[in-house]
Amino acid sequence: NAGTGYIGRFAPSPTGPLHFGSLVSALASFLDARCAGGRWLVRMEDLDPPREQPGAADAILRSLDAHGLHWDGAVSYQSLRQPEYIDCLERLLERQLAYPCRCSRRDIAAMGGIYDERCRRGLEGFGGPTAVRLKVTGLPTAEPGSSAIDFVDLFQGHQRQDLGREVGDFIIRRKDGLFAYQLAVVVDDIDQCITHIIRGSDLLSSTPRQIFLYQLLDGPIPKYGHVPLITNRRGQKLSKQTGAAALEDDRAGGNIYRALQCLRQSVPAELESADPQALLDWGTQHWQRQRVPACLELENPNHEPKG
Ligand code: GLU
Repeated sequence: NAGTGYIGRFAPSPTGPLHFGSLVSALASFLDARCAGGRWLVRMEDLDPPREQPGAADAILRSLDAHGLHWDGAVSYQSLRQPEYIDCLERLLERQLAYPCRCSRRDIAAMGGIYDERCRRGLEGFGGPTAVRLKVTGLPTAEPGSSAIDFVDLFQGHQRQDLGREVGDFIIRRKDGLFAYQLAVVVDDIDQCITHIIRGSDLLSSTPRQIFLYQLLDGPIPKYGHVPLITNRRGQKLSKQTGAAALEDDRAGGNIYRALQCLRQSVPAELESADPQALLDWGTQHWQRQRVPACLELENPNHEPKG
């Protein structure tokens, strides 16, 4: 299967166990890769220790395994890749595409939420901790006056975001020294030669920042597809914060069956109690990108918030 060149990935953050919403994203990413005869990698995005839950990384991997979502090669861990992130950060600083910033959250709020670029002028004499921000406007590579990023999402269609107006110079390393998701994810996706990124729609608004980083780092921009989020009855995204239940690994078949339904794949009713492998085989043979809905009104009644 090495011939197709397709490399996909699932990149969970170990902030809690896998829940139904993350299963839907993982399944879409898996089926899109397998249907294309591609490779499918798993990367543990454990770069924010304060947000992590002990044991969650292993629980996620066990759950993927129980659901038959077997990955290729070894799992990669962002916590082991600090040298690569440091290297990238240094190159961006050297090229003067990034700069240290001392501003606080309160400062940014007072600016109306979009950074006003005040630290671009330099921090002469300042000795405290600094974040590092990436410049999104006035770059030598950009067309004058333009900071818009366009792309065509595999499920959501054409997308456009003006980074200068809608996002502003953004943080790539935090004041506490931790690398930002936006930087780490692109460094890793480039190093792992990822060609297709299928993930949840909560990340749709991050994609233009990531495409922008790809451009600065000269990486070939992958194809992006953002699958709909599964919401509970209150319209909240399923997540640990909204009390989404952990997936029950001993109901793996039923979970996959329902996830296929959420992705609007026309899975036959007689597979309702099939085992995960049979469902994944069916899914791989019948995967149809064009059936995946752009958004999903359907709630997932089995996953009510606890609160
Ligand atoms: N680690 C991110 C998350 O769990 C996903 C990163 C990605 O797929 O790009 O929200």
